[in-house]
Amino acid sequence: MSTVIETDILIVGGGPAGLSVSAHLSGLTSVVVHQDREIGKPVRTSGGSWLADAQRLGIPEDLYQRVDRLDVYSDTRKIALDITDAPGVVFDITNLYQWLASQATSEIHCATKFLRTEKVANGYLSTVRTAGKGEWQIKSRQIVDASGWHCTVLESLGLNTRPAREGVGIEYEYPVDDLDMNRAILFFGSFALAGYGWAFPTNYGTVRLGVGVVSAASEQSLREMMNALLASDLLKRMGIPAPEGEHVNAGTIPSVAYEKTLVYGDVVRVGDSANMATPTLGEGLRICIEQGRLLGDALSKQTPRALKAWERQANGKLALKYRVGFWVNQAATQYTPAQWERSLRRMEKLPPAELVEYFKNDFTTSMIVRRVALLVWRKLKDRVFRA
Ligand SMILES: Cc1cc2nc3c(=O)[nH]c(=O)nc-3n(C[C@H](O)[C@H](O)[C@H](O)COP(=O)(O)OP(=O)(O)OC[C@H]3O[C@@H](n4cnc5c(N)ncnc54)[C@H](O)[C@@H]3O)c2cc1C
Repeated sequence: MSTVIETDILIVGGGPAGLSVSAHLSGLTSVVVHQDREIGKPVRTSGGSWLADAQRLGIPEDLYQRVDRLDVYSDTRKIALDITDAPGVVFDITNLYQWLASQATSEIHCATKFLRTEKVANGYLSTVRTAGKGEWQIKSRQIVDASGWHCTVLESLGLNTRPAREGVGIEYEYPVDDLDMNRAILFFGSFALAGYGWAFPTNYGTVRLGVGVVSAASEQSLREMMNALLASDLLKRMGIPAPEGEHVNAGTIPSVAYEKTLVYGDVVRVGDSANMATPTLGEGLRICIEQGRLLGDALSKQTPRALKAWERQANGKLALKYRVGFWVNQAATQYTPAQWERSLRRMEKLPPAELVEYFKNDFTTSMIVRRVALLVWRKLKDRVFRA
């Protein structure tokens, strides 16, 4: 283990968060270590997001499919939402991540796994292993943990642990002919209890059909869930052809309450390792890219104050909304199919724009007040009936 390279910043994880940090570093040397052999492969996410965010983040149009219709299904109901005013997008994940990598300022080492780190004078000495090359070391002044749900740097230093509650998802991606590619689908109820399912069109002629559940809340294996879905009439109701020649994508996401500590001195976490995906639908791409870039800007200033200011703005944007979203998440993962029927009846009454805000975890103050009032009302009702 003789090789030691020195750098200002080590970024662990070449997903959207880590690559976005790297793209915004200036005046510093940096290294990204990424355990997968290639950036953007295998795909571990379904890529749903929103046009306004894609445009705000400057993501080229050829990296996504726009959708103007969102159909929401339960076991017996369907809501067809016209979302032309707030269109969705489905990203071409591999090319999006490679585009992010093309903007990175760091040396990127793929097939390289971060193993552990230790505090040394003026920084950290990290041990990594590259496939076919063995172990080597990186000395850095700071480390960014962008390793997703693995939280690998924080664990190595005993600063935090991998989340105890996780969401896990599986997705069959397959070519489709004659499908309305301007329509995305979400489904709730029997076929995705403790979570939800989706069918998303891509801009290269495939559909991604998946289910995701909170692991602690569901014992059914994901494959069994997919088999039950395929054996049901739901695909027919949704107008989606059965998978043929499919490619299987799978992934994990933290599903725990948002924690405000993001900066631990010279170690910082961002993206899924900081639980930044929305608690409602587990949507993290736009947030990881945005917060990654802002963290890159803050690191470039090279002052503890700049990092703390970044932490404050992230908390200001996310903490309260994520607390509300996490209540919704905890309640929804316990729903029975009958409760999903009632939930869709409530969704039907909301204007599409407000429902989209719910899905985006973008709760306004009035939505939060109404949510709290509803919770208080339910608690009071329970007490009155019990008494
Ligand atoms: C099934 C599923 C569906 C999803 N659907 C959507 C969606 O539709 N829209 C949306 O916006 N978000 C979605 N998400 C969430 C989104 O994928 C994440 O929020 C986002 O990918 C987090 O980015 P990240 O860079 O923080 O982490 P990741 O994307 O997890 O990237 C971290 C990278 O670090 C690497 N790594 C981990 N440990 C090490 C190590 N020890 N050494 C080196 N490298 C390491 C990993 O291999 C990984 O590639 C979904 C997630 C899942 C699981």
